[in-house]
Amino acid sequence: MAQEEVTDRLGRQLRDLRISVTDRCNFRCPYCMPRERFGEDHTFLPRRAFLSFEEIEKVVRACIPLGLDKVRLTGGEPLLRPDLSDLVSRISDLGIDIALTTNGSLLRRNAEALAEAGLKRVTISLDAIDEEVHQKMSDSSVTVSQILDGIEAAREVGLSPIKVNCVIRRGVNEEQATKLVNHFKGTGVIVRFIEFMDVGRTNGWTLGEVIPSRDLLNHLQKQFDLVALESERSSDVAVRWGHSDGSGEIGLISSVSEPFCGDCVRARISADGRLFTCLFASGGHDLRALIHDTNGGDLTAAIAAIWQRRTDRYSELRSEETSALPRIEMSYIGG
Ligand code: SAM
Ligand code: SF4
Ligand code: SF4
Repeated sequence: MAQEEVTDRLGRQLRDLRISVTDRCNFRCPYCMPRERFGEDHTFLPRRAFLSFEEIEKVVRACIPLGLDKVRLTGGEPLLRPDLSDLVSRISDLGIDIALTTNGSLLRRNAEALAEAGLKRVTISLDAIDEEVHQKMSDSSVTVSQILDGIEAAREVGLSPIKVNCVIRRGVNEEQATKLVNHFKGTGVIVRFIEFMDVGRTNGWTLGEVIPSRDLLNHLQKQFDLVALESERSSDVAVRWGHSDGSGEIGLISSVSEPFCGDCVRARISADGRLFTCLFASGGHDLRALIHDTNGGDLTAAIAAIWQRRTDRYSELRSEETSALPRIEMSYIGG
C-alpha cells in the first residue's frame, strides 16, 4: 500500500523504528536500571505481555509504507529474548536494514545465528576498559573480557560496522574515553561517546554529571590527531571524527548539549506493543488491539495518524520544568 509522504507537525518523516523486545536485563547499569529501583521488588512485564515475533513483524510491515527503512532491536537486553535470530530473519526478509544494540554479554553464543538470519551490523555498549570501572558502570559480574570476546565473535561472523557505545559520567568513567579509543584504534570498531541523559526518573541524573561532547573532544584531540568526517545521512545522531592516519573513527552523540530533535525520525515500540514518538515521552499509544484485531492497512493508518500529531522535541526544550515531568524508563521504551 503506497501512502503519501507522512510527516509530523515539524516536517519529520518516520524512518527508524526501535523495538524493545524485553524490558529485562542481566546488567544493572546505574544510569539506566539502578539496582535499588530495579531489584527484587520491581515488576517487570509478564512475558505473556510481550509482542510475539509475528506481531512485531506486523508492526514493521505496517510502518514500511510510511517510509520506514531501518529497524533496531533493543531493550532491556535483547539477547535475553530466546531465538532472537528468528525475529531478525523475519525483518531482514522484508528488505529492511536491521541493527541490534546489546550489552555484548551473550553475543559470543548468538553471533553466528544472528548473522545467518541476516543481521549485518551491531552496536555493543561498553563503558570502560578497566574491569573495576566497568563493574561500577554496569553493576554486573560480566567482565570486560567477556564483552570483548562478544565483539570478537561479531567480527568473526562478519558483522560490520561494529560500533561500541560508551556513556560518559563525570567522575566515574571519563578517563576511560582515551583507553577505549586506544584499544579500538586500527580494529575497524567505531567507538561512540554518548552524553549521560535524563531518561526515566530513576537514574539520579544531574546536569553536573554530563560531560559535553565538545569538552570530551577537546580532551581527545590533545591525544589523537582527529579530523572531522562527513555525516552519512542527516538523521545520524553521531558527529564523526577520524584518526588522520585512517586508522579508525570515533563518534560523539551530544543528546544533551546539542540536541538533534529537528532531524529525529525515530519511533519506539515497547515490548508490550506501545508506540512512543520520543525517548522522553510520558506515555505511549497502545497498538495491541490494532495489532491483534485488524489488517495491516488499519495499523498503518493508525501509526500514520499518531505520527502526524507528533510535536516532540524534548531535548531542545530541556529545562528544570521538563526535567520534573514523568518519563518512561529507557529499559522499557528501548534505548
Ligand atoms: N542493553 C542493551 C545495551 O545496553 O546496549 C540495549 C538497551 S540500552 C537501554 C541502549 C543504549 O542506551 C545503551 O548504549 C546504553 O548505554 C544507553 N543508555 C542507557 N541509559 C542511558 C542514559 N541515561 N544516558 C545515555 N545513554 C543511555
Ligand atoms: Fe541493561 Fe543496557 Fe540498561 Fe545497561 S544500558 S542496564 S545493559 S538495558
Ligand atoms: Fe527525538 Fe525526543 Fe530525542 Fe528529540 S528528545 S531527538 S524528539 S527522541
